Amino acid sequence: MRDDEATLSQLKEAVRALCLDKGWGEDGEQNPQHVAMAMTVEMSELLENFQWLEPEGVRALWEGKDPARRERVAGEFADVMMYGLQLAYSLDIDIAAEVEKKIAAVRGRSDTYYEDKRRMRERFELDQRRKASE
Ligand SMILES: [Mg+2]
Repeated sequence: MRDDEATLSQLKEAVRALCLDKGWGEDGEQNPQHVAMAMTVEMSELLENFQWLEPEGVRALWEGKDPARRERVAGEFADVMMYGLQLAYSLDIDIAAEVEKKIAAVRGRSDTYYEDKRRMRERFELDQRRKASE
């Protein structure tokens, strides 16, 4: 299956079929609380691939010059997505509709919101530099 060949519904069903085959949960549905927590653990595993990585390493990954790390990131990303698909299935979340709603909400935010965020980030970075020089 490739992105341009599969729908989100097909992916939800594929993950549910895996859960059924493995005997996980009830009728292929696991406790949504456990799934959400597992999703966070998998997100941490994804982030582990970036831990202590210098900017050059990130740049290499971004430019396709670190295929081994890219493969590990892709694998952990798949773990995160599979739990996300399980959560969406169990709680009857229409992923496309929710993403569309969120995009509309972000578009509706004022420029002031992003300006405040930028100012907070600058203040944080200044504090970090100040602490580092003490
Ligand atoms: Mg994993």
